Amino acid sequence: MKKLALHTKIFIGLFVGLTLGIIVNFFFSGSDWVNWFAGNIAQPAGQIFLRMVFMIIVPLIFTAIALGVADFRDVKKIGRIGGRVLMFTVFITAVSVIIGILLVDIFRPGVGITEENRTQLMQSISNNQTVSGIITSAHESKSFIQIIIDLIPRNPFQEIVFYLDPNYRGGGLLALMFFALIFGLGMALTEYKKVEPLIKTLQGVYEVVMKMIDFAMKLAPYGVAALIFSTASTLGFKIILILLNYVLIVLAALTIHFLFTYGAILKYVIKRNPVEFFKGISEVIITAFSTSSSNATLPTSIRVTSEKLKVDKDITNFVLTVGSTANQNGTALYEGITVLFLAQFFGVDLSITQQLIVVFLAILAGVGTAGVPGGSLPLVVMVLQTIGIPAEGIGIILGVDRILDMSRTVVNVSGDIVLACWVDASEKKRIAS
Ligand code: ASP
Repeated sequence: MKKLALHTKIFIGLFVGLTLGIIVNFFFSGSDWVNWFAGNIAQPAGQIFLRMVFMIIVPLIFTAIALGVADFRDVKKIGRIGGRVLMFTVFITAVSVIIGILLVDIFRPGVGITEENRTQLMQSISNNQTVSGIITSAHESKSFIQIIIDLIPRNPFQEIVFYLDPNYRGGGLLALMFFALIFGLGMALTEYKKVEPLIKTLQGVYEVVMKMIDFAMKLAPYGVAALIFSTASTLGFKIILILLNYVLIVLAALTIHFLFTYGAILKYVIKRNPVEFFKGISEVIITAFSTSSSNATLPTSIRVTSEKLKVDKDITNFVLTVGSTANQNGTALYEGITVLFLAQFFGVDLSITQQLIVVFLAILAGVGTAGVPGGSLPLVVMVLQTIGIPAEGIGIILGVDRILDMSRTVVNVSGDIVLACWVDASEKKRIAS
């Protein structure tokens, strides 16, 4: 029998986990054995897969960026590419937030909720520990200038140690990337003879990291099945029904951005066939969907982008690594919609100026969100507080967050790959002219 390709296996894992999860949720929801199975078998299995990936993230990010920058060997080129990444990120993220905000303004999902459902939602907030946890961490939200300062790590090791801690208020992976960037710049500007052994060593580390990713990805079909099963089997479908309009609007806006914004950029700016592109990255899409984490998807997207899409390796490494944390279109779009939805829910009228502030804050929040499951929630609270909407409102949408998280992560990661293709195309065009 022909050996199945990895992405086919992952897809089968996704399908099996999802179907079983939905069946179990439908027929046996809340029963003891379901909770036991989800808690003791499925979740740990999913965690093992995720940890196999997460443990590789730090060496991957460090070597990918440092080598990416050192290989350019040209400070001007680094500046040019960095500038483009920033410009394109702000542009696509702004488009995504505007799509979301237009839809939420047209369909007003927060207004049509019945009184009974409203009471039920409010009750779900009052005794929810997670809500208070998220709010506490958002209370310590930082000023704009502090966010910039925190990009420069005082101690890179501290950023490494705490990057997965959702309550950590330092720079996290972005700060580690900054360190790697400066380190790479240092290597690029030092006489080659002197740094050659170091570069060769880092290249060795990078290759080993790639091998370790292969190991982890062998577990992916099972990990993905387990993760999806535990989400689907314990998901409250009832809450999805109450919030159906909100959920549909987020999904519709994500789909529009995914198909049309990315599609148009691919076809008209990058001049690639969008259908082939989306087919080519199917493995990345499935991994993002099931892990809900841009960081956990990074190894897969690096491999697919350089091997299948044939994007220059240095550009792939640099853009995808930075993008996995900084370019989060799906998250920014979701944050914009959620803030306006909650404003409608609480009857707070937002003027056009306030909505523009939401657009601006959502773009910033997209950059500041960690690429981990639920990474955007503290930032949603921060935006709510800035605009003057009760922060507890986050509890209302918490029940449906996982499904939206999975979907926005797909848009986040695909956006990074579009960005890498875009930077690659503009570099090639520059060389050709
Ligand atoms: N889970 C998202 C990601 O990793 C972040 C978020 O929106 O919560 O890209």
